[in-house]
Amino acid sequence: MALPSPVPDRYHRQRLLEDFGDARQERLAASHACTVGCGALGCAAADLLARAGVGRLTIVDRDLVEITNLQRQVLFDQRHADEGMPKAHAAGERIGEINSEVRAHPVLADFAPANAEAVLLEGPLGRPDVIVDGTDNFETRFLINDLAVKHGLPYVYAGAVSTHAMAMTVLPGETPCLRCLFAGPPPAGSQPTCDTAGVLGPVISMVSGIQATEALKLLVGRRDLVRRTLVEIDPWRNTHRELDLAGLRDPACPCCAGRRFEFLEHSAAEPVALCGQQAVQISPTPGAKIDLAALAGRLAAHGPFEATRYLVRGELAGERSASGGPIGLTIFPDGRAIVSGVTDPVRARTIYARYVGV
Ligand SMILES: [Zn+2]
Repeated sequence: MALPSPVPDRYHRQRLLEDFGDARQERLAASHACTVGCGALGCAAADLLARAGVGRLTIVDRDLVEITNLQRQVLFDQRHADEGMPKAHAAGERIGEINSEVRAHPVLADFAPANAEAVLLEGPLGRPDVIVDGTDNFETRFLINDLAVKHGLPYVYAGAVSTHAMAMTVLPGETPCLRCLFAGPPPAGSQPTCDTAGVLGPVISMVSGIQATEALKLLVGRRDLVRRTLVEIDPWRNTHRELDLAGLRDPACPCCAGRRFEFLEHSAAEPVALCGQQAVQISPTPGAKIDLAALAGRLAAHGPFEATRYLVRGELAGERSASGGPIGLTIFPDGRAIVSGVTDPVRARTIYARYVGV
């Protein structure tokens, strides 16, 4: 009689590594990473962490999958774009297919001062062991930096645009935080973005590889191996620079020295024009809970509107953009909305008040 063959171990090749014996693999399985933003960087890092065997993964993102994302956002496919699925849910679904041992928790929300602490610390998967930066803007990065320092959570920063990328790990109380190095976000519109300057797919793989590696070091308990430099790469121009962070903690840093968390305390909530898009985002109303089916029913009188599990969207027949194009409206269950075809926040707020009425 043939003996039953042993159950193949998914992590066999990883366990062969010096720092991934059984104990550390178990430690990884008990750990929790939170990816804030699930665009190119967030997708790639979440994919690597899920395959490596992280136990819990919270994925926060405010956007829907679009066809232009597929060139570099590796968790998404054409169906997600065709259906306009929220990125957080599409990523959660895909993570489940890659590794059913991972508990993924998608959060469809704009990570903002009003909800950031609740999203990060009070979710069903508990407090994360590391925050992975998958955002595309400095405002949110400084908000994450504030949270990381305030709550003593390691934060793996990365950013990529065009053919170059940067990465740095913030160990609160130990290494410089973002505000030790950069006074604050660059003025709006002063920096190239992926929407204006494009981005090379492979540069995402490289920098998210560094990011996931840093997160894994922390999650398996090899904090001593965490990179102590700000790394800057441009694989297209063949450049690679490392800035040694030793001695760069700023004794006058408002965040990690002064413990003033200005980005977290921002009262924000003003409508904001979305970078690179003809659209304005309206922030959620605190405590709002929209009945999507009922709202779609009311909006049907104003144009073709549909409700999905995640949102209501459609076009307003009675409104026109400045150039005569259509005005679109997408509303999420927490009251957040995207008004498209508009760049003026005041007009967007008026449209929101008129049709959503919150
Ligand atoms: Zn600092």
